[in-house]
Amino acid sequence: MPDTVDALLPLSFLEAVRNVDTPVEDFEAELVGELRNKRLGLSDTVYNQIKRFTEAVRRGQRTSFDEAVGLARLLGRRPDAEAVFRAAGRQLAAEAYRTLGGVSRRLMLLLPSLLSRPIALRKVRRLAARYLDGRISRVGANVLLEVPGSVTADAAPRSIGCTYYEASLKELLRLTVNAGGAVDHVRCSSRGEGTCQWRAEWTATSH
Ligand SMILES: [Zn+2]
Repeated sequence: MPDTVDALLPLSFLEAVRNVDTPVEDFEAELVGELRNKRLGLSDTVYNQIKRFTEAVRRGQRTSFDEAVGLARLLGRRPDAEAVFRAAGRQLAAEAYRTLGGVSRRLMLLLPSLLSRPIALRKVRRLAARYLDGRISRVGANVLLEVPGSVTADAAPRSIGCTYYEASLKELLRLTVNAGGAVDHVRCSSRGEGTCQWRAEWTATSH
């Protein structure tokens, strides 16, 4: 298990909770703090933690693995845990993608796939390593994401926490190569299979 995680990871949990718990029409009221205490996602605790992790992200500091696990357990107790984990996973992928330079983002979208896929694979591999502590490998027409130290695997029953990584991989592939295929959870540490592993379609027609 790693001792630390990128601060964007716990931040994505909290921002997903905040977004799910913020009624759209009350968004401006939430900004001035009037509604903050009404739900967990709008509480002062969450607000202060978001500030702290945002600051850590700004400074490039990693944060505690155990603290991230604790936050994942809090999310896992919610009746809407799966929706929140999925929203958080997409959030992390979007933030990670945003760290790539504008040139490589444009190249990945504009170049023919023969040229763009190898670039995208390198980028996805680097982002998965940094933000998910995961390993990306290409196996035939698929990519595999392997996460030996999952933050969310034991956060909720029935591998619900694992939907965090699944949603994150899916969003990363959508952003980098416009992939829209299914992501399968092929191994799971919470089923005693050592590590968590996901398989996604990488390319059906190109190389
Ligand atoms: Zn799993």
